Amino acid sequence: MNKVLIIGAGGVGSVVAHKCAMVPEVFGEITLASRTLSKCDAIAAEVLARTGRTIATAKVDADNAEETAALIRQTGAKLLINVALPYQDLNLMDACLLAGCDYMDTANYEPLDVAKFEYSWQWAYQEKFKNAGLTALLGSGFDPGVTNVYTAWALKHHFDEIHTLDIIDVNGGNHGKAFATNFNPEINIREVTAECRHWENGEFVETAPMSRHQEFVCPDGVGTYEIYRMYHEELESLVKHIPTIKRAQFWMSFSPNYLKHLEVLQNVGMTRIDPVVYNGVEIVPLQFLKAVLPNPGDLGQTTKGKTCIGNIITGVKDGKAKAIYIYNICDHEECFAEVGSQAISYTTGVPAMIGAKQILEQLWKTPGVWNIEQLDPDLFMADLNVHGLPWQVVELTAEQAAVLKVI
Ligand code: NDP
Repeated sequence: MNKVLIIGAGGVGSVVAHKCAMVPEVFGEITLASRTLSKCDAIAAEVLARTGRTIATAKVDADNAEETAALIRQTGAKLLINVALPYQDLNLMDACLLAGCDYMDTANYEPLDVAKFEYSWQWAYQEKFKNAGLTALLGSGFDPGVTNVYTAWALKHHFDEIHTLDIIDVNGGNHGKAFATNFNPEINIREVTAECRHWENGEFVETAPMSRHQEFVCPDGVGTYEIYRMYHEELESLVKHIPTIKRAQFWMSFSPNYLKHLEVLQNVGMTRIDPVVYNGVEIVPLQFLKAVLPNPGDLGQTTKGKTCIGNIITGVKDGKAKAIYIYNICDHEECFAEVGSQAISYTTGVPAMIGAKQILEQLWKTPGVWNIEQLDPDLFMADLNVHGLPWQVVELTAEQAAVLKVI
């Protein structure tokens, strides 16, 4: 029987726990561990009520590799699913090496004191995992995650060569709060305030944050949204592993209200990640801000609307130019009815469960450290349709491609 250890009891951890519990033939015994035991217990109670399955809970400091390794040994876990924060990635990879356990996550490592998004730290574990006969799967959320798998699947089935990639992440949901982020506020704000980088003709080009934006019409009546170009971590691995890509860009939708609040918070220094001394105590403004903002895990109750995340890919097939759009539409209220979470946590947690399933079913059990696009996409794509994130693919005519200004 497969035993898994999920680390992190936030919005995403809750979805992963629910979705793993719904596939008992693969996830035989589940332990959910995090810094705050009461949050694990609350999720376990919800999982029991919704699925009838009992999952174990534990308290762990994921910044401590020895302590986590001891918990892995105690639970007998074969796979650790890291849905804590990006700061914990390296310690959790170390814990897996110490205890002989496979590893996976949904976000690349970030040092606490600098908003730097790159895979170098985790790629440096390649030989260690290979020599230990262990697998580490990086970035099995939606973006990164599904967007990488879409690209690998497009290359396998639709193109001889991919030339351009535009990943477009639209959240058309409304949570009814004055200001809130859909996932961990600290991680979210670090990401959107960072310099924008996109790939063009063999190098990353840097531009000011949010300096390029345009309208995007989502399919299937989801609506029209303003999307902003920003850096996102999957660009780094995708252009490395698919070297024919000439241009790769990532776009995300933001409402005028979100941007207004963010601008003010930035202007007054509340998004700073360096410590300031207040009443003799060092505090990091962004961490304090997280403490006063709504908890993303609680937004499900009020959020209405849909997400629409997908890739527009162009390239050549049999000598002819071709363009396709692969996307998923996910409804916030349907996610809440199924697992008690909004769609951002859902669209991250479902692919995390599917990535874990691929490893446990030995399909992706290859020693070493892998970005998700390096592995065969077909069964992952099939599982998306089965487990709640069905996708569509449409071929774009030259005319349609021209209308979509991202191309
Ligand atoms: P939350 O902040 O809601 O949850 C994080 C959890 O990790 C909390 O339960 C927190 O504990 C726990 N944690 C933090 N530090 C430690 C520690 N040292 N030891 C043990 N537990 C710890 O975040 P989300 O659920 O929104 O996000 C989880 C991850 O998913 C993040 O890495 C995020 O970047 C990633 N993500 C990926 C996406 C994708 O598409 N690829 C999209 C959205 C998110 P406590 O409750 O005590 O603070």
